[in-house]
Amino acid sequence: MTVTLDPRTLEARHGTGVYAKRPLTLVRGQEATLWDDAGRAYLDCASGQGVANVGHSHPRVVAAVQTQAATLVTCQEAVHNDVRAVYLSELAGVLPAGLDRIFLCNSGAEAVEAAIKFARASTGRPGVVAAMRGFHGRTLGALSATWEAHYREPFAPLVPEFGHVPYGNLAALEAAITDTTAAVLLEVVQGEGGVRPASEEFLRGAQRLCRERGALLLTDEVQTGFGRTGRMFACEHTGLEPDLLILGKAIAGGVPMGAVALGPRVAQMTPGTHGSTFGGNPLACAAARAVLDILREENLPAEAARKGEWLIDRLRALPHRRIREVRGRGLMVGLELRDRVAPHLAALQERGVLALPAGPSVLRLLPPLVISDAELEQVVQAVDEVLA
Ligand SMILES: *Cc1c(COP(=O)(O)O)cnc(C)c1O
Repeated sequence: MTVTLDPRTLEARHGTGVYAKRPLTLVRGQEATLWDDAGRAYLDCASGQGVANVGHSHPRVVAAVQTQAATLVTCQEAVHNDVRAVYLSELAGVLPAGLDRIFLCNSGAEAVEAAIKFARASTGRPGVVAAMRGFHGRTLGALSATWEAHYREPFAPLVPEFGHVPYGNLAALEAAITDTTAAVLLEVVQGEGGVRPASEEFLRGAQRLCRERGALLLTDEVQTGFGRTGRMFACEHTGLEPDLLILGKAIAGGVPMGAVALGPRVAQMTPGTHGSTFGGNPLACAAARAVLDILREENLPAEAARKGEWLIDRLRALPHRRIREVRGRGLMVGLELRDRVAPHLAALQERGVLALPAGPSVLRLLPPLVISDAELEQVVQAVDEVLA
């Protein structure tokens, strides 16, 4: 059968309508560049929503996927597997100390779901305290922890025993943690909620309160993990020791994968507690191994720190009244504007730069960590023109 209609028509016809699509068809990527179906190049400051930390089609990820696809793609967790076993030990080796038991799944939301189940199973308590402006995914458990009303309200009633406190307000958190609280679930830097780094005091206070009251601290590093903020994991900036650390997005270079790492305060799980058909499949594990190799060999967390500092300085120096604040960590950068962000994203796209929103008025830049200094300069110039 020959497909005679273009991708936009076909996706409009057969999609469900859950995505507000931009008029753009991307067909190819290399490092920090993407190409559309007419051959036009774009500088990628979206990374497929924070996924492509090592860049698009990195040759080591390509080779790992090709080799593993020709060897073994699927392998249930009921048996052992060579690639999975090596990946688990390599990931444990880069995680903060003590986080050495790992559950593998297929997305960020699934990793959040697993972490919530593990916290409830470990503590025997039901409660989850999350943060206002927090985003944890769109499945019903993760959605119950997500704050924004337009994501939640159409699907009420959600999972009981979830509550939200203002992000950064330690007194409110202290009041919310009771002897029925299983988990405090926080992003270290809020992503979808507007690129908001938490203060060291708030994160350390959350950890102290959890330990005092027998609750577990769950950090959602789905967006901040794997070098994005200038360290391998964002909790390293404050020496935070979460009980469960939640991972996704960049973990396998674009191959779908998620993970939860369990620390020493989390009980040993028993057979049947949780599971996943695709979780820990050798294809994703092979890609994820390549990602760890690339992050280390190309020194990408340190590169993200250096480039991010430069980028934030340059953006703060822009003279436009439209910019209310520039904030971020590493190459996770937000410009809070005084007006709506959508028209500026469209204007950036016209100038060959793809960026993201984070709420109605924040322009979010999440470039691949391999983006070059010259490319970042082009991004700053485009932002300057668009906001002028
Ligand atoms: C994207 C994201 C998720 C959800 O991940 P999916 O893979 O889309 O399910 C969860 N938490 C945070 C912080 C995220 O940025």
